[in-house]
Amino acid sequence: MTNIVLFGPPGAGKGTQAEVLKEKYQLIHLSTGDMFRYHMKNDTELGKLAKTYTEKGHLVPDSVTNEMLKDEVNRQLENNPNGFLFDGYPRTKDQAQVLTDFMTEKKTKIAAMVALEVGDEILVGRLLDRGKSSGRADDANEEVIRERIAEYYRKTDVLKEYYQAENKYYGVNGVGSVEEITARLTEVIGKL
Ligand code: AMP
Repeated sequence: MTNIVLFGPPGAGKGTQAEVLKEKYQLIHLSTGDMFRYHMKNDTELGKLAKTYTEKGHLVPDSVTNEMLKDEVNRQLENNPNGFLFDGYPRTKDQAQVLTDFMTEKKTKIAAMVALEVGDEILVGRLLDRGKSSGRADDANEEVIRERIAEYYRKTDVLKEYYQAENKYYGVNGVGSVEEITARLTEVIGKL
């Protein structure tokens, strides 16, 4: 299995690129953001809990997120996938460690963290723009958008070092057309 973490701040283009990459490499796309939105839409207990965090632009607690992610990986493993494309997970050091241990338990590993690098003001602009059509409450408000980016720097950005220490970090310029960025990503992934 080839398992890849697609990384970057909110608005970096992870979801857009994941749609292309999952087809190209036949990977299972796992987005914790999508999982939370599914639960919120269906008003499950997990969704109600997640909403209290997502609406403020904060991360959902690790214990909840880790269990949700592991359940989904276990479910998908029954189909013997080529690998997973993690999008929006891990987002904290605790999540990264849980993922490392979980992959080891499943006799596999993370091959690489591929990061989309984009400046903050471009991120805010992209998210405000996306908010006009995404229907996502957390894209509709500039204050929440800025809080999501702040949360990224508080808790998530540090994961670069975590994966760098394992020689698994690959940064890619995330500014350009969708096709240009896909080409940059496939250059990295092709060498794994
Ligand atoms: P995203 O679609 O990846 O931007 O995620 C939307 C929201 O879901 C985030 O702002 C968080 O509130 C929550 N979320 C998604 N993934 C995680 C995660 N790995 N850890 C904690 N919260 C998450």
